[in-house]
This record gives sequence, structure tokens and C-alpha cells, in this order.
Amino acid sequence: MKLGIISDVHANLEALDAVLKRFEVEKVDQIVCLGDVVGYGADPNACIERVRSVAAITVLGNHDAALTGHTPVAYFNSYARTGVEWTSRVITDENLQFLKGLPLSHIDDHMLFVHSTPKDPSAWNYIHEFSEAEPQFSYMSEGMTAFIGHSHVPTRFDHPSRKKSIINVGSVGQPRDRDPRACCGCYDSVTNSFEWLRETYDVQEAARKIRAAGLPEYLAVRLFIGM
Ligand code: ZN
Repeated sequence: MKLGIISDVHANLEALDAVLKRFEVEKVDQIVCLGDVVGYGADPNACIERVRSVAAITVLGNHDAALTGHTPVAYFNSYARTGVEWTSRVITDENLQFLKGLPLSHIDDHMLFVHSTPKDPSAWNYIHEFSEAEPQFSYMSEGMTAFIGHSHVPTRFDHPSRKKSIINVGSVGQPRDRDPRACCGCYDSVTNSFEWLRETYDVQEAARKIRAAGLPEYLAVRLFIGM
């Protein structure tokens, strides 16, 4: 089965639509969303509705959890906090209920889907380096691949045995690897092969909406530089 895996959409509808179009071209069988559908961007409702209609599996991200009250906003930096507060004013009840129903992680055969870490998803720890990935492997069974998001940086960590992997699929709506193109993953669960896909999208329009919403200017500017 061919999976299209997205994470950290962050209410960027232009980026999300570009990635979903690419999944059609790639003929993926199923779409999985690793959370943070909202926050930072100006289209939280449209993005949640899109994800609800296309994703077979969606797990909870820290920004989603801030909206549902599961994670205190004090944990966030000021940009993230402003985004959460703005989103909480515009989100529909139905979409909020959807976020409230999301699980922290999901296991499907040899695949683990989680926003932050396999060990303790609700602690929202980051995996930037192998030293941070290594202790996580003991919380994964042999042959397992964990798909994560959260850092917005596409990265892969393989256990020395090559029998466990942690793959960060990157961010659709706010990439932070200095490549402004939307990032997502494509995984073949039969051949166990993974690749990152990058798609250009209308950054101008996403930034215009962020400014029009009165969100911080930096949240618009960073989209152009991929940071
Ligand atoms: Zn995020």
C-alpha cells in the first residue's frame, strides 16, 4: 500500500492543496496526517475540513492540543501562542470537536504514527539528532517504522540494526529546512521505501491571508525562506 503522509499543515491551505494534488499524481492509496493541522496560518477551518475528508488516520499535534485545552499555551513561544489564541476565536465547534477526538498516536501493523516521539507523545519532545532518536527505539518493536513531525525538518534516523527507523516527514505548511516548498512523505508499506516530496505552492497568497488576519508579520515572512 502506498501512503501519503503529511504533518504540520499549520492552517496553510495553499500548501495543503498543492500536496494533495501531488498525492493524486502519485496515486497514493491512503493519506495519514501526523497533527498540527492548525496554528500559525490563516485557514484553520478549511484545513481541518480538508484533512477530515481525505485522511484515513489523523493524530494530535501540540498546536491542536493547545486548542482543545490538553496542552497549556504557556508552553508556547509568543508567535505560536498568538496563533493558538487567534485560531481559538475562529475555529468552528464541529472542527474543535474533531480535534478533541484525535488520538496521540496510532499503530497500523509495522507503522507507528505520532506527532512528537514514540515514548511519550504528550510530552511534545523533539527529535533533532540521533542521540535524541536512539532512546526512542526501545519503545518500538522490531521491524517498526515511526513516522513523526513536530520539528518541521525532514530527517531520518535508522537503528544500527536497520530494523527500526524514525522518519520525520517534514512540514506541509511551514517548512524549516530553508526550502520554502511544502514537504510531505510517500511510503510504500510493502517495499518499506520512503521518499520526501517537495511541492511549490502560492506562498504569496498564504502570506497575504496571514497579514489580512492580523497575525504576526514574521509568520508570513518565514514562509518565503522556509524557516
Ligand atoms: Zn508544528
